[in-house]
Amino acid sequence: MKELLDKLLKYSSVIEKAERYLWKNAEVGYKEIKSNDFMKKEFISLGYTLRENQDITGFSAELDTGKEGPTLALLAELDALYCDSHPETNKETGAVHACGHNIQCASLLSVACVLSEKDALDKLSGKIRFIVVPAEEGVEISFRNELIKKGVISFTSGKPEMIKRGFFDGVDIAVMMHLMNLGEDVRFYIDGGSNGNIRKKIVITGKASHAGEAPQDGVNALNAASLAISATNYLRETFRENDVVRFHSIITSGGSSVNVVPDKIVIESYVRAENSKALLEANERINRAIICAVASLGATVEITDLPGSEPLHNDKNLVDALEDAFKVVAGEKGYRRDNVWKGSCTDMGDVSTIIPSVHGYVGGLKGKLHGKDYVVEKPLNSCLDSALCQLVLTFDLLGNGAERARKIIKEFKPVYPTIKEYIQTKESVNRVIDAVKIIDNGVEIKY
Ligand SMILES: [Zn+2]
Repeated sequence: MKELLDKLLKYSSVIEKAERYLWKNAEVGYKEIKSNDFMKKEFISLGYTLRENQDITGFSAELDTGKEGPTLALLAELDALYCDSHPETNKETGAVHACGHNIQCASLLSVACVLSEKDALDKLSGKIRFIVVPAEEGVEISFRNELIKKGVISFTSGKPEMIKRGFFDGVDIAVMMHLMNLGEDVRFYIDGGSNGNIRKKIVITGKASHAGEAPQDGVNALNAASLAISATNYLRETFRENDVVRFHSIITSGGSSVNVVPDKIVIESYVRAENSKALLEANERINRAIICAVASLGATVEITDLPGSEPLHNDKNLVDALEDAFKVVAGEKGYRRDNVWKGSCTDMGDVSTIIPSVHGYVGGLKGKLHGKDYVVEKPLNSCLDSALCQLVLTFDLLGNGAERARKIIKEFKPVYPTIKEYIQTKESVNRVIDAVKIIDNGVEIKY
């Protein structure tokens, strides 16, 4: 461990330069042009050959030990997010790295530095693929929808997009480390995983009329929206505890004039769940409740479903290996492991449905992720911890003829047997449902 730390410390200035540059040039998903260019240049200067996207951000680079064995992917995310109240929000882009993805990129770069040294791979088998991914944060969904309509991308999130584009073909194990607020004493943390989600846009259309003089001539879309949300709430008792289903909505357009019966209401929602099957089932029931509630008042509705993230299930054998790396780096008391399940989502979940994956946490954050009080006082320390952990894990997995990696791969049970099936299921979620038709003397529902 000491030897690896000494090697990493030689690259402290590389880490600091990357961490600061990315912080100062925070950009949101699929717009990480400067960040992507910076990372590419750094990898190229280390002698790596890149596999690049021509039309979007994100790339990969690979090291081959020359010995037969599995491919281990180490990931870092490029994008920042919007948090207007954060004091260091970038004036030009409006974005800030309040989720610490700049720390991920700087760490990954230092791992790439150490492993590109002469003789660094001597004790390893297989390959190491560095994958720098775009667009993890769920922001600017309309912009991403436009990219989908133009045929530039297929998915709003970066990892599914990179999977579809083949960047994970041949990957046997995937690892990433994310920043978190872990308090003072703990440097690392790993939990059970987190929910997946489907994103929804719901447009309810009624009929405008004078709200005081002739409400009988109108169809109140706001009332229909209210009833639709109530109907979904009545489903809650039918969700199984273990499925951790969550459904939450906001109204983004709620009528234009108080003396006009509102004829157009726009709702955005997330359905979340612990497993892919429950997610799809809950989504169907929620759609049905919305459609029937809206129809009952004579309004119509268009529901656009977009695939978000798959549930993240950290692979147990891989978590065991990560825990061993935590112990080596931070000692018995320097980390925490539990099976806590989070209701939030990450597109690392998508990777975990096809490849044994782990999404661990490194400390150093004060304040809240995505919060205005987000601050990392010693970013170099967080980067070094994350990088050291990834290096120790890499040597454990791919050392000794890659014995440990092979065991993990052998015992892994994927949610989807192939990438093709994963993509098909994901794409089947992507649809526009126009189920209510107003006819003479009634409504017609097709769902
Ligand atoms: Zn994040």
